[in-house]
Amino acid sequence: MSVLAIRVLGDPVLREETRLVTEVTDDIRRLIDDMFETMYAANGIGLAAPQVGRTQRVCVVDVEGAAYALVNPEVVRTTGPKAKAEEGCLSIPDVYGDVERPSRVTVQALDRDGASFEVTAEGLLARCFQHEIDHLHGKLFLDHLSFLKRRAALARWDEEKDQYPGFIRVLKVGGSEHPDEEL
Ligand code: ZN
Repeated sequence: MSVLAIRVLGDPVLREETRLVTEVTDDIRRLIDDMFETMYAANGIGLAAPQVGRTQRVCVVDVEGAAYALVNPEVVRTTGPKAKAEEGCLSIPDVYGDVERPSRVTVQALDRDGASFEVTAEGLLARCFQHEIDHLHGKLFLDHLSFLKRRAALARWDEEKDQYPGFIRVLKVGGSEHPDEEL
């Protein structure tokens, strides 16, 4: 398994629509393994393929030990009241914003063996699923912020972005670079 470089805000791949995976091959399983490795190295709780420069519709999530590899995930149902909570993103380090999302969500996807499954989640896991699925459609948490909050977040990013030449964030393996949960 390898820790992959993370693409940060400004890399056009983060704004691309991903491609449906037609077959879960060994190549996809390797990508899933590398994405878990990368997410853990970054102390993240979710990671989507565009964040490592790939265009397949794949993401991984691990919220409090509930780990999921999701291939071609789709939100099939949202229920419950909307909830607002602070989000961050491994592709926009050190920038945070309050995002309002449905508190309960049902997601359908293929697992690493290509088998279809459905999972209903609430709380942080529900938020994480929605954040990662957004990534697979070129959408970032910034897009959910109000105009003023987005402007403030982008001003914050302006101070950070020079640390990532070429829009690449290289992780230190085994390092605990970020104490916060980012997705
Ligand atoms: Zn993210």
